Amino acid sequence: MPIAGIYGPDDFANRPQGQPVTSARAAPVPAGPKLPMPSLEWIPAVERATAPLYDRVKHVIPPIEWPLMAPTIHAINQLKRARGAVILAHNYQAPEIFHCVADIGGDSLQLAVEATKVKADIIVQCGVHFMAETSKLLNLDKTVLIPDSRAGCSLAASITGADVRLLREKFPGVPVVAYVNTSAEVKAEVDICCTSSNAVQVVESLNVPTVIFLPDRYLATYVASKTDVKIIAWKGACEVHERFKGEELRAYREADPSVQIIAHPECPPDVLAEADFTGSTAHMINWVRAERPRRLVMITECSMADNVRAELPDVEMLRPCNLCPHMKRITLANILESLLTLREEVTIDLALAERARRSVERMINLKN
Ligand code: SF4
Repeated sequence: MPIAGIYGPDDFANRPQGQPVTSARAAPVPAGPKLPMPSLEWIPAVERATAPLYDRVKHVIPPIEWPLMAPTIHAINQLKRARGAVILAHNYQAPEIFHCVADIGGDSLQLAVEATKVKADIIVQCGVHFMAETSKLLNLDKTVLIPDSRAGCSLAASITGADVRLLREKFPGVPVVAYVNTSAEVKAEVDICCTSSNAVQVVESLNVPTVIFLPDRYLATYVASKTDVKIIAWKGACEVHERFKGEELRAYREADPSVQIIAHPECPPDVLAEADFTGSTAHMINWVRAERPRRLVMITECSMADNVRAELPDVEMLRPCNLCPHMKRITLANILESLLTLREEVTIDLALAERARRSVERMINLKN
């Protein structure tokens, strides 16, 4: 059914000004020695040590570029061991990060679940700020680092905890579901979190006729189309996925009617209407693994297509390339710096973290 209403900052005259509370802002260097900078020379020993890693990405990284990145990759992997750290990377990270330095890769849900199992004392989050906050919420006793705390998200920046309180005042008793792409401050105000993988399941798990679903208006529209629960939405959007246009997809199909098109539900409805399959990051990857299309258009962040192609080189990717500028703030150079200096550390007020954590755990504990 169509969404039952959509609200934004302009709909609340008494809305306090401000951005979501974020916490990873150049925190003081925590305990632990600064390690010496390893050599970044391209020498035969580095070439030999990194050869198996190049094998993973040879279909998406030209040989001429490898000597420029391999010494840093090698140094990161050495430092990671020396620090006893684990690196989590989102699917939207560049292939040299996702395939060559990450210990665990995945979408928001997979990273949130894996973060609960991490044994290492230090987690380096290669993703955007709300993801690092989620890892911290689930690992309050561990050091969680983000290599560049300016890695934000247009969705997380679209709503504050005060906005959630205003929505609750307007719709008393209506439960609030928040996409994980929100700050810890917002997570602390809601009933349960969801990802694009489990959004419909989470909404229906509440067994109520109406739910406030925030902050992505397009994901809300998609969820509303899949359930009988009435959805009240927020006017947030992903600045990467909302750039795609239905006409762009039609042009691909006219050029090659056999092409398969798959899209992420953060895209506008006219885009989803043209897609052969709509699904979350993890669902899209599983779809490609199962279907093995000859030619594919992946309507999502651009690096995700590179990461899938690295794994499945027989699938030809046609790519309208929309990069997430926030995800791209994370680089090999600042991951190395983060491991050397243990910066920037994510810190969250403990009382707020406990409330936010409950919303994330409620989602993780939902039975499949
Ligand atoms: S791709 Fe969109 S939703 Fe994901 S981090 Fe970037 S702006 Fe946020």
